[in-house]
Amino acid sequence: MITGGTGYIGSWIAKYLLEAGNTLRLCVRDESKTEKYDFLLEIAKENNANLEIHEADLLKLGSYDEIAKGCDEIFHIASPFSLKIKDAQKQLIDPALIGTKNVLESASKSGTVKRVILTSSVAAVHGDNKDMKDQGLSEFNESHWNKTSNIKHQPYSYSKVLAEGEAWKINEIQNNWDLVVINPSFVMGPTLSKGSLSGSIDFMEDIIKGKFAMGAPKLMFGFVDVRDVAKAHILASNNANAKGRYILAERCMSVMDMTKIIEARFPGKFKLPKMISPKLLMYVVGPMFGITAKFVSNNIGYPIKLNTTKSTKDLGLKYSSMENAIEEMIVQMTE
Ligand code: NDP
Repeated sequence: MITGGTGYIGSWIAKYLLEAGNTLRLCVRDESKTEKYDFLLEIAKENNANLEIHEADLLKLGSYDEIAKGCDEIFHIASPFSLKIKDAQKQLIDPALIGTKNVLESASKSGTVKRVILTSSVAAVHGDNKDMKDQGLSEFNESHWNKTSNIKHQPYSYSKVLAEGEAWKINEIQNNWDLVVINPSFVMGPTLSKGSLSGSIDFMEDIIKGKFAMGAPKLMFGFVDVRDVAKAHILASNNANAKGRYILAERCMSVMDMTKIIEARFPGKFKLPKMISPKLLMYVVGPMFGITAKFVSNNIGYPIKLNTTKSTKDLGLKYSSMENAIEEMIVQMTE
């Protein structure tokens, strides 16, 4: 069973599962919106795989119970990823937290589920980039937890901390299924899903539409190809020894580094920043971009490093280059 299989990351996971010939139960909010999953039906047909469509909603308690029955694995990916929200409780925290409880309780009730693979985020590992310095760390690894986000400050990250924390609690009180958690950094690359509202798509759109033309914030993220994220989920499913959390990142780089990759691949095509915005200026212009003074203070100018050894050693994940992911994403978006 897969939740979020209509989304940016989930649709790649669904594709790989179908290509391997699995029987897959795809949970959608509204079965009548066939445009959200028709491409997966095509993939299933091409691969002689069985794709069942089931209606369920993260916020509708018990709606996954019947779907989970008979399944051996659940991929729980669904959760809103948006940085442009008005009501954090309603738009982010409720679907993340209530949704995780809802889906994982269905796993417990199913009697058949043996493993749950949950898509968390590096946002559950650390909050502000400044956390690394404040905690005296030289890098973040899977033992770290974000303790600085809250409903007002970095609410998306907070939703991921709450959801992943809840998943581990539910996992602890039962013995039927084990939990493997994938913690991707910022995901880039082409989309299969036509209607994704993912922050990944928004972010790239902002860059190529010239939002940062006047200057790039000195802001660093980890980045990873969407297909590598999907492969990591599949590896976590196939590897009986997969255990705990897995941070995913091909590299950490700044917004400016990213725009340099775009300029090298598409010379002169987009209005990209030529300089870094001074931090002081970010305090002034930040609100126009939905960025608070606290975010500027705790993130701009602070480096981060993510340790991804566990993903390469335990899962055997081989990272593909961000240059290609970025290029393919932009070619698709401009087309
Ligand atoms: P998308 O917005 O593309 O996908 C979100 C998915 O969740 C969609 O399938 C959506 O269904 C589903 N969904 C949302 N709300 C509900 C609900 N109430 N009931 C049922 N389904 C719902 O985002 P991404 O693919 O980018 O994100 C997927 C996961 O990956 C999230 O958990 C996110 O936190 C995590 N993640 C994303 C990163 C990124 O950079 N993109 C980085 C790290 C983690 P519908 O089609 O109906 O809208």
